Amino acid sequence: MDPIIHIDEELCTGCRRCAAVCPVDAIIGEAGTPQRIDAHRCVVCGQCVQTCAAYAAESDPSLTSRAEKLRQRGQLSSVREPLFAAYSTGHAIELKEALADPKRYKVVQCAPVIRVSLAEEFGLPLGTLTPGKMAAALRLLNFDRVYDTNFGADVTIMEEGSELIGRVMSGERLPMFTSCCPAWVKHAETAAPHVLDHLSSCKSPMQMVGALVKTYSAELDGIAPADILSVAVMPCTCKKFEAGREEMNVDGLREVDMVITTRELAQLIKDKGIDFINLPDEPFDSPLGKYSGAGTIFGATGGVMEAAIRTGYELVTHESIPNLQLDFIRGDEGIRTATVQIGDLELKVAMVAGLKYVSSILEQVAGGTCPYHFIEVMACPEGCVSGGGQPKLLLETQR
Ligand code: SF4
Repeated sequence: MDPIIHIDEELCTGCRRCAAVCPVDAIIGEAGTPQRIDAHRCVVCGQCVQTCAAYAAESDPSLTSRAEKLRQRGQLSSVREPLFAAYSTGHAIELKEALADPKRYKVVQCAPVIRVSLAEEFGLPLGTLTPGKMAAALRLLNFDRVYDTNFGADVTIMEEGSELIGRVMSGERLPMFTSCCPAWVKHAETAAPHVLDHLSSCKSPMQMVGALVKTYSAELDGIAPADILSVAVMPCTCKKFEAGREEMNVDGLREVDMVITTRELAQLIKDKGIDFINLPDEPFDSPLGKYSGAGTIFGATGGVMEAAIRTGYELVTHESIPNLQLDFIRGDEGIRTATVQIGDLELKVAMVAGLKYVSSILEQVAGGTCPYHFIEVMACPEGCVSGGGQPKLLLETQR
């Protein structure tokens, strides 16, 4: 598989800002010399892409060779992006071609944080919510169905909440780790295989929706699954890796055929000349466009944990959760822990925001001293909001 994250040695200045943010020490090289990525160790979180500031205008002659290389590979969009030394493989051009194919039935799902961050690419204030404009823009890009990954987040949470309560009751394979962050899963596979048995068996929300698109939704629309192009818009570069995993298929078909990032969606909208800011709001399509509050909080640090606790509470007590103070779960990077009373059960939980903080917990599990029942791990420092596919917010000094 394409390593997805690359460093262009012709553009890299060797500033090693990327090495400072890499959570798994996968960036190799001396300061002042071009850096390389250890693909085995890399978790594809894209934090290096987010932080790389080595770019200049296209007219800069030093960028010509990189631009030419990208053109030859078909990776340079007709919409110009600044060229960064560290970059992720783009799929904007490939998707643009696929969307023009009248024989494919095109279905797209959008992760919850896209509706918050897409607006930044169009000059709207940070945090402006634009779900209606985004749905309208996706239809103008030629998608036949516009679905919401939040639906999948609800499905994941129902499954994961049940799995958690079952495992706590039986005492089996504790602690249970979340498995929705593919960068965390890749890290566990390469650096901590002793915890693999502890990961939740649930698919991530993106893959849940992908599987439903090729089965339930295909049946509802009367479309052969093989004729469906299943696309996901994600804040995350590692979701490209997850979608390409061998096991992510249903009856021999990919659940998600293509993943594009928030930046790539903005490229496609600009490329088509869509006046995003003045688009009228449109709804998502049903039934995979509906969701609960649990699905909505999935993308923030602690969101998976909070949603699972709320679901677990209802499963155990058969009552709605009282106004429990779960704010301790949210917050900045690092490890936060808590004990939550669920009926007679005292549930010990930990929330790891930022993959570099997980090592102490992995050591506890290896030594049999881990006190927690449930641990959420998100690779990016503030969860998916700070994912590697999100709009780049460069400081003026980096421009
Ligand atoms: Fe992707 Fe979110 Fe994990 Fe970052 S925290 S690697 S954006 S799933």
